Formats: sequence, C-alpha cells, structure tokens
Amino acid sequence: MRTILTAARLLTPVRVVERPVVVVDDGAIASLATAAGSELPAGRHVDFPDCTLIPALFDVHIHGSGGHDAMEATDSALNHIGKFLAHRGVGAYFATTVTAPLDTLLRSLSGLAKLLQAPPEGARPVGIHLEGPFLSPHKRGAHAKNQLLTPSVALLERFWQASEGQIRLMTIAPELPGAEETIAHATALGVRVSLGHSNAQNDAARRGVAAGAASATHTFNAMRAFDHRDPGLLAEVLTNDGLFAEIICDGLHVDPAAVRLFRRAKGPERALLVTDAMAGTGMPDGNYRLGDLEVRVKNGRCVVGEDTLAGSTLTLDRAVRNYSEFTGAPLAEAVGLATRNPARMTGLDGEIGTLEPGRSADIAVLSPKHEVLETFLRGRPCVSGAITFNG
Ligand SMILES: [Zn+2]
Repeated sequence: MRTILTAARLLTPVRVVERPVVVVDDGAIASLATAAGSELPAGRHVDFPDCTLIPALFDVHIHGSGGHDAMEATDSALNHIGKFLAHRGVGAYFATTVTAPLDTLLRSLSGLAKLLQAPPEGARPVGIHLEGPFLSPHKRGAHAKNQLLTPSVALLERFWQASEGQIRLMTIAPELPGAEETIAHATALGVRVSLGHSNAQNDAARRGVAAGAASATHTFNAMRAFDHRDPGLLAEVLTNDGLFAEIICDGLHVDPAAVRLFRRAKGPERALLVTDAMAGTGMPDGNYRLGDLEVRVKNGRCVVGEDTLAGSTLTLDRAVRNYSEFTGAPLAEAVGLATRNPARMTGLDGEIGTLEPGRSADIAVLSPKHEVLETFLRGRPCVSGAITFNG
C-alpha cells in the first residue's frame, strides 16, 4: 500500500522542507521531496494543510502513562502506555524503572526484556532506562532510601542478565563508591550512562565523565545545588560541551528562567527533552503507582510524602511547546531535542529521530498551534479522525 502525505512544511528536523511530499511504501519512507510544481505520484493521498510534519518523538525517560507503570511489565501495561504515547506524537521510548526491592526490579527487567522482543501497540519501547538503585541517598527524590544500593559491576551484571541486554541507559550518582568501575563496565556493554540523583562535587562528576558518562539525568532536579565555590555536578553538566543533558520542561520541575540558562549552556545539539512521566499522565487526579511507590497526583503535580516531586504528568509534545515558549527556540530546535538528540545520545540515530528515505515512516503531524493531530507509526495512522482523505 502506497500513501502520499502532504503538509505545509516538514522538519527533518535538521532541515525545513516547504510543501513536502512524503511517499510511504510498506511502512517506510520511500521518498521525501517538495511539491514545487511536480505532480503527486499515484496512491492514497492524505493532506494536512497548515500542518507541520516532524519525526515521531522519542522519550528516553518515562515511567508510565495512561494509568500504567512500565514496571508492571505486562502486555496490557505496555499496550496502554504505547497507545497513549502514540496519541501524543511519541514513536519510541525507554521503559524507565525506579528503585525497588531487588527481586521486584529483577522481575520487572526480565518481564520487560520479553515484551521488548514483541513490540506492543503504539509507541515502541526500544530499550530500558535503569534509574536506580545506584543513586545518592542525599538526592534520591522519590526513590526509596532503604532500597538504594552501592554500585558494583556484579550487581550491574545481574541487571544486565535479567534485562537480556536491553538496558540502554543507566542513571548513576558518580560520587558513590564503586561508581567509576560500574560506569566503565556499563559503557563497555554499550549502555549509555547518565549522571543524576547525585550530590557529587565537581571532581567526582568529572571522574564520572572520564569513566564514560554521556549524559545527565533531569538537569537541576535531584542534583547538588550550584554554588560558585562548590559548583558540583551542575557545573560539569552545563559546561562540558560533549555531555548530553535531559530537562523536564513542564514549568514545575524547573523554572523557565533556568530552562533559558540550560539552553544557553547545552545549545541545540546536546539538550534532551524528557517527561519523567508516571502512570497518572493523561488520567484524572488520584493515586497512582510509580514502581512500588504510591504517588498522589493533584492538578497534574505528582508527590510522595510531604511534598517530594515523584515524576510528572508531562507529555513530550507539550515539553516541545513549553521549550519554545520558555526560551524562544524555533520549533525545529525544540523538536530536535525530542527526536534527533535522544537518538544521537543513545546511538539509535541510524534508525530513528530524523525523517529520511529508507527510515520507518514514524511521523507526527502538528497543528498550527503545534498540537499533535495525528501520528503515523510504520506508516499507519494511530489517532485518525483528524485525517482528510483526497482522491
Ligand atoms: Zn528521577
């Protein structure tokens, strides 16, 4: 089946194509050109006037959505999450774990490993992000204190075996004993290492980077605060031009002024938008699971205990809009932070994150207000209703 998509513009997102014509054959992009004067090829034509086509979004840090947590590690949970995410323009994500009792975590990892081999409906989980248990007790956020563990190669190997090699990203606090060897070992396995939930001083942060760390987890949140005489991990994150860095751009986790500082530091090539979303995302206020924790969601704010933020109800399409609004970044730049950059950071840029001939037709359609109208995954519409068919 051949489908031809047309729109007002397309962001690859490296370049802008005005009046694009995207030919989709068997779920893949066969060609990508501009309409200028040429006749449309034969096939089913779907036109999105006034709309912008972008690559489907990629979230490397998301715990759940639509009432379900990735650690449930069931078909049903991942189908719910995948379908919800597809409606928000997401095509791929890393199922992200939280600190939990060791046997619970191992069970989730092995459950996810099986499910990742048979992709569920909607957005595809393309790997696992292990967030915890190698985190600082001083910057643990919502992670359970008595379940944090000292990093070791032996423990990492247990997680790696349980996940059948599907851990693609690991958050770790570099100042913990054993962290350097664990970072080096993870890097050798092909796991990307992200520094976070950390109280590290600057020298420990730099040792973490020297051992192989490639990114930083939710910059500013659960990180030693910046002090001009004790600049800590944050100074390394904001000044090391080789390091990628995540940010939760919901206006609650990080003040818009700090997002502007982040943009100046990380630029269009190293910044990543993530959601850190949990099960309550897309759901009414109430109580939801985050791994083993019960989290209260009120007015979209997720908390445990007194008032500790525990994930978010942010969606990645909104993060893109917020980033543009908070910083003045052009849409193409903001889109790159949720498509191309996460793909580059994780080494998946040969497959996802940009629109090119030969790639899977994973395409989100944005309205003039940059809201998601439709998402095509492997060339098939996931949302529908907004489609107008011509010819
Ligand atoms: Zn976190």
